[in-house]
Amino acid sequence: MSYGEYYNPEIETLSRSGIGALQAERLRATVRHCMNSPFYAKRFKECGLTPDDIKSPADITKIPFTTKQDLRDTYPFGIASVPLDKCVRLHSSSGTTGNPTVVLHSARDLDNWSTAVARCLWMVGCRPEDVFQNTSGYGMFTGGLGFQYGAEKLGMLTVPAGAGNTLRQIKFFTDLRTTVVHAIPSYAARIFEVMQQQGIDPRRDTALRILAIGAEPHSADTRKRIEDMLGVKAYNSFGMSEMCGPGVAFECKEQNGMHIWEDYYIVEIVDPVTLEPVPDGEVGELVLTTINREAMPLLRYRTRDLTRILPGECPCGRKHKRLDRMKGRSDDMIILRGVNIFPIQIETVLMGYEELASDYLITLETLDDNDFMTVDVELREGINVDDYNRLLKLEKDIVRRLHDEILITPKVRLVPKGSLPVSEGKAVRVKDLRKQY
Ligand code: ADP
Ligand code: ZN
Repeated sequence: MSYGEYYNPEIETLSRSGIGALQAERLRATVRHCMNSPFYAKRFKECGLTPDDIKSPADITKIPFTTKQDLRDTYPFGIASVPLDKCVRLHSSSGTTGNPTVVLHSARDLDNWSTAVARCLWMVGCRPEDVFQNTSGYGMFTGGLGFQYGAEKLGMLTVPAGAGNTLRQIKFFTDLRTTVVHAIPSYAARIFEVMQQQGIDPRRDTALRILAIGAEPHSADTRKRIEDMLGVKAYNSFGMSEMCGPGVAFECKEQNGMHIWEDYYIVEIVDPVTLEPVPDGEVGELVLTTINREAMPLLRYRTRDLTRILPGECPCGRKHKRLDRMKGRSDDMIILRGVNIFPIQIETVLMGYEELASDYLITLETLDDNDFMTVDVELREGINVDDYNRLLKLEKDIVRRLHDEILITPKVRLVPKGSLPVSEGKAVRVKDLRKQY
């Protein structure tokens, strides 16, 4: 199928060998430029490497990984490859432990970043006549300004609504005839709930047609639900502050994995334990090298996100590799009685039940020196919470399906809609109250 509608046609339709040649050239330039960074100059020296050792992407494994800890250790400006007077903005991700991480951008970096976001939005059919409403928090969180600049560059009328205040968001949808929305998946579901309470039917009362959802892991069924609720096409959007923010990888209209822009990044997937590359198609940790960044290039950055490269070519004509939806972060993995479990596995089971709403909470507790998991999940509006026998049967069925998936038997509690805490930003899915030994 051909859409004939690329934002950067030459780059988006580059052949694999064209991508390889461009990457080799940009990688060499990046590594040379990194020698202006006190951090990388020292690193290279320590392992006896010189920029001349890196000639093509195949040589990349000679370079040591960069980690979040490195960013913390060099906080705030120690990794930058340019003097501060070249930098025009910084973003920071909230550090729960120790120093936050800071990412610096030059004017050229911001321009490249907004081009990447514009390219993503154009790919899914956004055009200058669209009205784009961004429900992300602005400020340090990159989902705000990142989408803002990209949407403006594409030429849409942008509504920087910011996070929260759902009634006002909905008023803007209807009054301004918003057609494109950016929201995290948990918030998209929340918007629909409030619409229902207000008697607003998104298909009848709004012009919504495209939704960019990302920033947190979500299952294919969750996406489908959101699409059905709001009457939109929802496209998975992946990004992280260290890699600029949104615009790293995005689904095309085929909705079969997220194209990662290989003129910006070199992608590797490694085993999170051995750090060796995994064979194509297998799940591992995503490692990214920026190859067109000026202020703060990062070499082989360990993202902690788990995913895989999808095999085969995409019918859209773009040859840039596709990432599967994120399975979670290696540090989100729950280890319960020696079994490794990702919250997304649980979500995938839950979202297969039409009686269940989208909010759930996994609690891990210690009772009599044994660790247990409880899954609280909200029932959909309209399900009779007094039909004891039906709910008991449903609970049992969910426990059985969860056991098949995660190999342990959790306790499942079906709770009425609205009983679980609502979070302002990314949804909190796991509460770990286990005794630490
Ligand atoms: P923080 O590290 O504080 O969450 P970011 O806003 O940079 O800061 O979040 C980036 C992270 O969000 C990614 O590393 C990934 O774990 C998650 N993420 C972003 N987009 C997606 C997506 N489409 N699907 C799943 N997870 C995502
Ligand atoms: Zn595609």
